[in-house]
Amino acid sequence: MTSAITVALGERSYDIHVGSGLLSRAGHILRPLLAAPKVFVVTDENIEGLHLEALKESLDDAGLDNHGVVLPAGEQTKSFPHLESLLDAMLEARCERGTTIIAFGGGVIGDLTGFAASVLLRGVPFVQIPTTLLSQVDSSVGGKTGINTRQGKNLVGSFYQPRAVLADIDVLSTLPPRELKAGYAEVVKYGLIDDPAFFDWLETRGVAVVAADAQAGRQAVLTSCRAKARIVAADERESGQRALLNLGHTFAHALEAEGGYGELLLHGEAVSIGMVLAFDLSVAMGLCPAADRDRLVRHLHTVGLPVCLPPLPGGEWSVERLLAHFGKDKKVKDGRVTFVLARGIGQAFLSPDVPAATLKNVLDAAIG
Ligand code: NAD
Ligand code: MG
Repeated sequence: MTSAITVALGERSYDIHVGSGLLSRAGHILRPLLAAPKVFVVTDENIEGLHLEALKESLDDAGLDNHGVVLPAGEQTKSFPHLESLLDAMLEARCERGTTIIAFGGGVIGDLTGFAASVLLRGVPFVQIPTTLLSQVDSSVGGKTGINTRQGKNLVGSFYQPRAVLADIDVLSTLPPRELKAGYAEVVKYGLIDDPAFFDWLETRGVAVVAADAQAGRQAVLTSCRAKARIVAADERESGQRALLNLGHTFAHALEAEGGYGELLLHGEAVSIGMVLAFDLSVAMGLCPAADRDRLVRHLHTVGLPVCLPPLPGGEWSVERLLAHFGKDKKVKDGRVTFVLARGIGQAFLSPDVPAATLKNVLDAAIG
């Protein structure tokens, strides 16, 4: 069964299709949306071996002329050198304004490909076929694209919405368990932001989601995409409420930067710890009952996500160094860091007024 959710953005509106067996129907679903029967598929070497054949077959069946390129897997691919070679490959393949670019992979492929599509010939249409839980519930929806630079992550990019998103739950069965769990942290985030009933549901079905159960996975992806679609439709360029999606992320980015991106912690693992720290901070500020923080910790622990800082290889965590990263956050405005705090599970809000001393105490306690 397939369900569709619309991201309502006027003439840039698009549907997110969620279901099983979508890959084999991708050609027929996409065909009516395309300006011309020509697509260019971008994927990585892991997905190539597992799922590319199924997608190509489906595109062939629908009579779509398809070429493509396979890039190395990993965060390093979101870089200027790979952007350049990707644009080269697209031009070599004679992509035109009417050619649709398909990003077939996780967030790395989605972010890089979306950015390339936004600048190729001043913008060509693109479609997301996300293959990780993280990309299905988060990065493929909402139109943020980009690459990393020497100065940091995602510092060069664009807002560029896809024409459609196809989230096939079946492909999650080949995802390494650690990646699946990391993506699950972003699912929990939607419950924490404003959907306590979803959090209740996750407490009973979350274990099935991280065990790649297709039915539970479908429900989790659907609810997450509905939440993201609603938030993005209300605030496409993050002038306000879209920042709620950064719950746990200010902490997470600091932990990732200190631990070496992807080395010590996957992004979702850092988000898991970051969400706990955001609740710790909310409790310390007297805004949130400690019972809600404890409930969050219990759930994350049950599904196998980290809830406290792991030892830092070859060093010690430093509060000063963590605090220094907050100041570099993309979301800093006039030197003030806006935190996402919570009055409880499902009651997140933005606060530019976090007392420095309380923040420091929370980090001191976390470092232990
Ligand atoms: P990823 O794309 O690196 O994928 C993780 C790993 O899983 C890779 O090794 C990949 O080859 C492999 N893989 C992908 N699908 C698979 C499958 N079905 N079976 C087996 N292996 C598979 O990482 P990710 O976690 O999907 O995305 C992380 C990126 O997303 C980061 O760069 C982050 O900045 C970005 N991101 C962007 C947004 C946004 O709004 N644009 C939001 C969140 C994260
Ligand atoms: Mg995230």
